[in-house]
Amino acid sequence: MATFLFDDIVFGPVNSRRLGNSLGINLLPVDSKVCTFNCVYCECGWTQGINTELPAGSEIKQRMHNEFKRLHENHVPVDVITFAGNGEPTLHPDFDLIIDHTIKLRNDFFPAAKIAVLTNATLLHKQAVNDALQKVEMPLLKLDSAIESTARAMNQPQITFDFQRHLENIRNFAGKRIIQTMFVRFQKQGVLIDNTTEEELSAWLQELDRIHPDLVMIYSIARDTPDSTVKAVPKSELKKIAARAEVSGHKTQVN
Ligand code: SF4
Repeated sequence: MATFLFDDIVFGPVNSRRLGNSLGINLLPVDSKVCTFNCVYCECGWTQGINTELPAGSEIKQRMHNEFKRLHENHVPVDVITFAGNGEPTLHPDFDLIIDHTIKLRNDFFPAAKIAVLTNATLLHKQAVNDALQKVEMPLLKLDSAIESTARAMNQPQITFDFQRHLENIRNFAGKRIIQTMFVRFQKQGVLIDNTTEEELSAWLQELDRIHPDLVMIYSIARDTPDSTVKAVPKSELKKIAARAEVSGHKTQVN
């Protein structure tokens, strides 16, 4: 199916269903997706690897400065500066320096804007990544399932992946804890994978109780997916899932 790649380092602002008026930052290549996961629902298509050459930090910083200045001069409103793009942003070796640079640019040009990072949280064990994520207002940490076999089927890790350690890293994260969970159904080798079953939701709610998130973002696919068997979960079901999380004391947002 027709997935797409972002074709620049800075893109937008676009009206994001989750974040509002969002100026996107892509730290990954413009011609391939680079990620530690290979999610069946990824709107950027299948992962091409994690050892691809990335844009230089100096180039990214210069492009960001030029674009922030231009948008500021043209009075373009920016609510949130969002690290998303063609893969996992924390893979960039200069991620921490780029976050520091972004905070400075934000303060200079869009002081009311928040900084968001969409991350799969696989690199939280790296101190520089962890420290940088603690500095932003909205680190969005992916948690699609608290059951290992489902998480592996959905996210298809491309690196050595210790699931329990991964959960512990999220639980121990000292920054703002915003959890993002994608609910979908799909077929894997003829077997239905569904992270909305009672067993799944029960495990997910228990994990949320351990994480104590500040916010849980609940959503389903809105675009084409690389695996054509992936089906969206209707919003009415997402709202019921959110209601259960709210009963458990968790603040939610359904997108
Ligand atoms: S973690 Fe994000 S970028 Fe990586 S494969 Fe999954 S959806 Fe795509």
